[in-house]
Amino acid sequence: MIKTAVILAAGLGSRLKEVTASMPKGFISIGGLPIVEVSLRALIDSGIEKIFIGTGYQAAHYERLAQRYHPAITCVENPDFAKTGSMATLYNIAPSIGVDFLLLESDLVYDPAGLDALISDEKHSGIILASGMTGSGDEVFIETGDSGRLVKLSKNAGELARSDAELVGICRISRGALDEMCRYYEKEREKRPGIDYESVLAGIASAGSDIFVKKIEDFSWCEIDDDGHLHRAAGVIFPKIREKIRARSKSISNISRNILLNPGPATTTDTVKKAMVAPDICPREDEFKRLMARIRRDLVLAAGADCRNYTAVLFAGSGTAAMDSAINSAVAPGGSIAVIVNGAYGERMCEIARAYGIGCLKIDFGPGGKIVPARVKEQIARYNEESLKTGRGALSCLAVIHHETTTGILNPIEAIGSIAKEYGLTYIVDAISSYAGMPIDIEKTGIDFMLSTSNKCIQGMAGAAFVICARPALEKIKDYPKRSYYLDLYGQYKYFEEKGETRFTPPVQVLYALKQAMEEYFTEGGAAARYARYSQSWRVLRAGLVRLGFRLFHEETDESRILLTVYEPSDPRYDFDNMHDFLYERGFTIYPGKIGKTKTFRLANMGAIDKDDIADFILVLGEYLKKSGIEKF
Ligand code: PLP
Ligand code: MG
Ligand code: MG
Repeated sequence: MIKTAVILAAGLGSRLKEVTASMPKGFISIGGLPIVEVSLRALIDSGIEKIFIGTGYQAAHYERLAQRYHPAITCVENPDFAKTGSMATLYNIAPSIGVDFLLLESDLVYDPAGLDALISDEKHSGIILASGMTGSGDEVFIETGDSGRLVKLSKNAGELARSDAELVGICRISRGALDEMCRYYEKEREKRPGIDYESVLAGIASAGSDIFVKKIEDFSWCEIDDDGHLHRAAGVIFPKIREKIRARSKSISNISRNILLNPGPATTTDTVKKAMVAPDICPREDEFKRLMARIRRDLVLAAGADCRNYTAVLFAGSGTAAMDSAINSAVAPGGSIAVIVNGAYGERMCEIARAYGIGCLKIDFGPGGKIVPARVKEQIARYNEESLKTGRGALSCLAVIHHETTTGILNPIEAIGSIAKEYGLTYIVDAISSYAGMPIDIEKTGIDFMLSTSNKCIQGMAGAAFVICARPALEKIKDYPKRSYYLDLYGQYKYFEEKGETRFTPPVQVLYALKQAMEEYFTEGGAAARYARYSQSWRVLRAGLVRLGFRLFHEETDESRILLTVYEPSDPRYDFDNMHDFLYERGFTIYPGKIGKTKTFRLANMGAIDKDDIADFILVLGEYLKKSGIEKF
């Protein structure tokens, strides 16, 4: 089984001057992600565990990528990249490779099925992936001989007896063939320092090596060397590849689609639903451990973090399990926790602390109240002073809800992070209903433990909770008392690191769905793209409600754009249950309010829904108001 890949990424990309002035070609984004990241995710998906990237031009971009995907990627720099060619880059990496591997160019957009075609073919020492003629310009033509052997390749078709296929830029190379390539290069490099790897492959083939051409006639791919290629890649090839991938995982046609406007579990795609129907597997098998490692990595990436400094710890459970785990594990022995409260979930954090007998300073702003950082600071300082006098346990943690789902207010986690830092407090942020729905920079915000769950903005199924942890924060809590047997954060982390699995039975099918949901999150373009979609839905929702006459609880600028609180109409003909049932029968689920005696209901626009679904909802809601004769708001 092939587990290693090499990406050649040293080139200047000089034909794309404007785009490549600030970055290497691989960082051109199509569909929201840099093409090299799409490629490396496809490689990992195909079972590749170790990826070497041959860097040169603007190598720092690749170094950062390697840090994010730590430890999967190793960068090897070709310092002479400007004067040499792709073979020199490969030659530099060769001493690190002891096995057969896949070799790819960094500027490719391709159907991942091509990787599997090469990985599953064990018969040759070298295989070149080829396609039918694309007519894209800058083609490398291939002449093949008996049983598909490589005879010759050239950019000039006139040099060949026949053009049988076109080189894609993805190969499978045996360790032996790599040695031959290196020897060939050692002889040639004086004369041709800029020689590329494909010419060397052709060279060893004509010297008798068994290099095979695997042609997939209608293979969808494109390399990006110039503006024309870039347009073709974005406008034609990329959509075609997406369509092919979608067709391979056909949707479940007989499940009706409900629009859930409750704040999670949210509406999921059919492909996420279908991912749950997987072959039975024992979660202690390596195959499942790989799935878990991949999910943990993606969870870290979606927090805007890198895997060198952060890690994700998963539990079977709902979001509250993540809250419980962080609170019971992160407070120093005898210490206490400050919790900022402006809704039911902040309240819940206090209840968890009390359940464990942990001292709790509740900094209360009332339901939906705006958090004033200066008051937070004041109360922390006062609590610390009093603790000194009375000998009470000092504060060791500060906790806050990012998106307080009780009302839909978004709390200022960066300003609060500065306070945590100033007072040396471990910073816990509940991002249960915001994570993956909007960009969060966990590192810049200074979050030590960030909590979320599989069934909200990540758009997976309910059943997995997780904590994204800064590694130093985990080391700090290592010897703290175990207040919970099951929800022991450090214990679970350690087990993951040592054995690659959860201590106890994981929710197997939920994790298959989560893997698919994460894939769809990255395909959509990550947090920024998802936030843009949610924002669009929120705008349509807000405008529609106002048009119908409803009054909203928060100012627009305080809202998360993921959930709205709406005052119930004062009209005597209004009845929540009645409205709920009318909408439910028509495929829309709404949610009651949660603010004491204030009469409200809530609408969330998270999940696999968009502005058109929201526009439909507004129409149906309008019908309900009309039918019921509700006029007073
Ligand atoms: N925290 C926040 C901000 C939430 O929105 C929720 C659920 O809606 C929770 C915690 C609790 O999650 P769960 O109900 O999955 O236990
Ligand atoms: Mg080219
Ligand atoms: Mg190229």
